[in-house]
Amino acid sequence: MKDVVNLAGLTEPELISFAETLGEPAYRGRQIFAAMQHRRLRSFDQMTDLPKAFREKLSEQATVATLTLESRYLSEDGTRRYLMKTNDNLPVETVFIPEERRDTICFSSQSGCPLQCTFCLTAQLGLLRSLSSGEIVEQIIFALNDAYGPGVKVPRGVNLVGMGAGEPFLNFDPLMKALRIMANPEGLFIVPNRVTISTAGIVPRIQELATIADRPHLAISLAAPTDELRDELMPINKRWPLEELLAACKEFEKSLKPGERFTFEYVMLDGINDSDQHARQLANLLNRHGLSAKVNLIPHNPADPLPYLPSHPERVESFKALLESKGIHAFVRQPRGRDIYAACGQLAARREKLILPQLDENRNQDRKAAFPI
Ligand code: SF4
Repeated sequence: MKDVVNLAGLTEPELISFAETLGEPAYRGRQIFAAMQHRRLRSFDQMTDLPKAFREKLSEQATVATLTLESRYLSEDGTRRYLMKTNDNLPVETVFIPEERRDTICFSSQSGCPLQCTFCLTAQLGLLRSLSSGEIVEQIIFALNDAYGPGVKVPRGVNLVGMGAGEPFLNFDPLMKALRIMANPEGLFIVPNRVTISTAGIVPRIQELATIADRPHLAISLAAPTDELRDELMPINKRWPLEELLAACKEFEKSLKPGERFTFEYVMLDGINDSDQHARQLANLLNRHGLSAKVNLIPHNPADPLPYLPSHPERVESFKALLESKGIHAFVRQPRGRDIYAACGQLAARREKLILPQLDENRNQDRKAAFPI
């Protein structure tokens, strides 16, 4: 395919410059930005407010959508997983999670992942490549259009979580640019305050994130309370061990806004990291660093060939109670979309489970025409 610019990855000022290089006035750039990011159009043909000749010129040099849908899966709990592919045929997965108060979209920052967390299916793909800003933004546009209808106003706003495939902080600059594009009030208008990025613990990027005024929330995937166990479960720990990681978290705490807390994610693996002793070690670790974070306990999502089982619900409750008895706020996160390989740590481009035969026609008549899948 000819090398064309993906306009979904350009900020509004960049699009204005782009329009000007094509001999067009600045407002054309703003029009294209709004068409993509506000009306969520995914082709120049749909931008009928632009002159036809200009649309033709644009199509020769640029595109507004590079990801194509390969399959779409629906969980019993309403979660949707989209398996898309890039121009160069690499898998990209995005998950839409309907919730009572506000829906959530979980996006990927890389195709595959270079980190080798042993409880995660994505690790088995290895790193295929990092995604561009445009490919990150496109995932959100796609999921919103599918869930609510193309361009239809999002009823209650959405939350974004960067917890899909990949380590977001190994793709830091494109990710931050994508968040800036999505925050624009003339576009998607999803502000950083609605976004949480989860890292396995890339310490320099945690430090860098703390210096960014308009930054998203931070979550750290911990999985173990000791270096010995964490080295085994999350080998990135050998590069940035717990003491260094938690010192960076403590430093990050200074950048927290009133009422903001960051989160530790703790995957619960039966018989591996879920004993009372582990709970005490975890509480002591966080208390020793004076961190007033909350801990999300995530029962492991089993998937062949991962060697783990989820902790028993009673074990999870005891673990939680022990943390709370030591002053740590702990929550149990219910798994979503397990049956379609959409839950935490399950994204590995699996081509299984039911494929929706068609979209829900009741919500929006135009949806099928725009997304004939
Ligand atoms: S848990 Fe996250 S960082 Fe670890 S291998 Fe999976 S996708 Fe990568």
